[in-house]
Amino acid sequence: MISNKLATVTPSFTIGISTKVKELKSKGINVTNLSIGEPDFLTPENIKEAAIKAIQNNMTKYDAAAGLLELRQAISKKLKADNHLEYTPSQIVVSSGAKHSITNTLMAILNPNDEVIVPAPYWVSYPEMVKLTGGIPIFIDTKKENSFKLQPTELENAITKKTKAIFITNPSNPTGIIYSKEELKPLVDICVKNNIYIISDEIYEKISFGSEFTSIASFSKEAYDLTITVNGLSKAASMTGWRIGYTASNEELAKAMGSIQGHLVSHPSTISQWAALEAMVNSEESTHEMVRIYKERKELIVEILKNIPQVSYIEPQGAFYFFIDISNLKDKLTYTDSLSLKVCDDLLEKHLVAFVPGIAFGNDDFIRMSYATSMENIEKGLQELKKYAESLY
Ligand code: PMP
Ligand code: GLU
Repeated sequence: MISNKLATVTPSFTIGISTKVKELKSKGINVTNLSIGEPDFLTPENIKEAAIKAIQNNMTKYDAAAGLLELRQAISKKLKADNHLEYTPSQIVVSSGAKHSITNTLMAILNPNDEVIVPAPYWVSYPEMVKLTGGIPIFIDTKKENSFKLQPTELENAITKKTKAIFITNPSNPTGIIYSKEELKPLVDICVKNNIYIISDEIYEKISFGSEFTSIASFSKEAYDLTITVNGLSKAASMTGWRIGYTASNEELAKAMGSIQGHLVSHPSTISQWAALEAMVNSEESTHEMVRIYKERKELIVEILKNIPQVSYIEPQGAFYFFIDISNLKDKLTYTDSLSLKVCDDLLEKHLVAFVPGIAFGNDDFIRMSYATSMENIEKGLQELKKYAESLY
């Protein structure tokens, strides 16, 4: 009998849909994939070469549980230069992707039935990670009219004696919105007042189209002590398969996470870590070029979506997603449980284009498109969305 913990845990929608698309493609069915948030750019050459060199130089043995010292030193420098944050290498833990960093964090802070606030729409894995580590996700439905940004009163109303932590994703997946410093400040103050950990997921930090970015830990000493800054290289350096993410936190938490990781996985692959070191010190140019292209795509999508009046959206300021409002299609369709599932199923089966249903992110009136794919795919996929929406009217 498997653990009760799994009773309410669902498999990852994003990974699941993308696997389905790959299966269809292997059968010769050409699906346009606007589902998974995986950069379509190749990992830059210099990073690949650093990994090859690491293998040739036999850097292929066990190392420190918290990650290579050289890499943690580079992360510490990055956090100071980009985010005005002073973290020593002993406050940094390198893990197998930001997913793993978040899991380590939850394992280190949660006692059974502790509550973790998850503002919705949320990134698909947060609630499941909380459940798997013994906590209870508490959702706050943020409002479209607030661009899905959490409001201070909404946060205050959700806090109980059992609240242990909150997720803040900035820039956001799935909406692409970015909180300004002024918007973050009252939220951080509330967390500090209530002694709540802030899991600040900053993985899309670099993918921003001009908005100013503020790291939550930079607000005050109190905020710094309570914040676990999560970041990684999957998005900024197009290194999804290398599985490198990291946390920066207070020393006590970092020690706890290092010890959890030491027992469960030892540490992430040393080869990936040497590649990550190269990415930390030498990928700015490649990242800029990727962001320039994402911005061009975003602008193209805005133009196309203007011509699909049956749907609406909030213009993203970063990341590589559009969260598309499909609530106008509600009366035009018959479905049993979920509007967004019905729409995504129709789009996949009848139009061969893959989106992710908003229900995976806690909002069934939306679907998410990723534009981490070519202009050609974007145009093709959105043309199908247009055809579909028009066919219902
Ligand atoms: N956080 C967010 C908001 C994400 O979208 C992702 C996407 N994979 C992750 C964390 C995890 O990234 P990874 O494990 O590939 O570093
Ligand atoms: N974070 C990406 C997404 O939301 C990648 C998939 C995943 O890790 O779940 O699509």
